[in-house]
Amino acid sequence: MEIKITKTQSPKTMPAEDTLGFGKFFTDHMFIMDFDRQIGWHNARIVPFGYISIHPASTVLHYGAEIFEGLKAYRTEKGDIQLFRPMENIKRMNNSANRMCLPEIDENDFLQALTTFVDVERDFVPHSFGTSLYLRPYLFGNDESLGVHTVQRATFIIIASPSGSYYKEGINPVKIMIESQDVRAVKGGTGEAKCGGNYAASNRAGERASQKGYSQVLWLDGVHRKYIEEVGAMNVMFKIDGEIVTPALNGSILPGITRKSCIEVLKDMGYKVSERLLSVDELVEALENGKLEEAWGTGTAAVVSPIGRFCYQDKEYDVNGGKIGDVAKKLYDTLTGIQWGKVEDKYNWIYKI
Ligand SMILES: *Cc1c(COP(=O)(O)O)cnc(C)c1O
Repeated sequence: MEIKITKTQSPKTMPAEDTLGFGKFFTDHMFIMDFDRQIGWHNARIVPFGYISIHPASTVLHYGAEIFEGLKAYRTEKGDIQLFRPMENIKRMNNSANRMCLPEIDENDFLQALTTFVDVERDFVPHSFGTSLYLRPYLFGNDESLGVHTVQRATFIIIASPSGSYYKEGINPVKIMIESQDVRAVKGGTGEAKCGGNYAASNRAGERASQKGYSQVLWLDGVHRKYIEEVGAMNVMFKIDGEIVTPALNGSILPGITRKSCIEVLKDMGYKVSERLLSVDELVEALENGKLEEAWGTGTAAVVSPIGRFCYQDKEYDVNGGKIGDVAKKLYDTLTGIQWGKVEDKYNWIYKI
């Protein structure tokens, strides 16, 4: 695929690394490609970062046809720039596209777009451990008509945001509200797809939890309101009586790449990992009889986010005295070690740019 590169005439300077935060500051360029049913994907280009213009009737604005991905470019101590399992993101984005009737992208073209774009923005990959260049590929239906039908036109964009360390103040376990009113997804719905609409629908529960002093919600399944699915926008894992338990991918759970990587690392470390149904009753029982040893969320942004407290039906339960546990710590150290090039990548997960 040919990518036309137009460099900016007004380059930015990178803010100080300790002021970056998440997703606030963007690089100098963006990757864009257009789709049309007649000609397929075309006009791949890297252009100066800026506003995009879309028709007021654009499909995405009315019917929410939008999917996205999130991954990071890491800088090692030697100065190499690398990605973590990028093909997993590419395959997942195509699965999301398939679910939402949006056009898929050739895997090699997608990888070329990512790597060419990161190469252009190399200088925006921050240097300190824990910081990264966050990459946000997204794809949306862009027909200029209000008719409800399969999209004829679509747009694919990649933007990048130099981001600070998620744990600037150290890894502090979070407080989680178990949600019994709203649901995030149901089987047959869009829970498995990484689509913007899932996030819009999750906001109300998140808002309620936040008003009560909780940082995320733990989602239960949409049919029985009983089985644990995910935590906020992360997958979730528990250590119950020595065994690692995580909800099985059942069609309404987002198949996280961090989740998948954690399972491989845990099995390698000799832990028993069960992907199965886990009911909130079993969780509460384990909390009450002291068998819940650890709980944590997994996702690209935080890698591992330990859970220090749960609230369910107005009762509060502490996990591991509100402190990070050994397994969560080991997972965090192993995955971040591989990502930032401090630990040998025996799994072949790293893709150098
Ligand atoms: C992106 C996402 C995750 C985590 O996936 P990773 O590939 O590990 O970053 C989990 N749940 C939801 C709802 C997500 O959108």
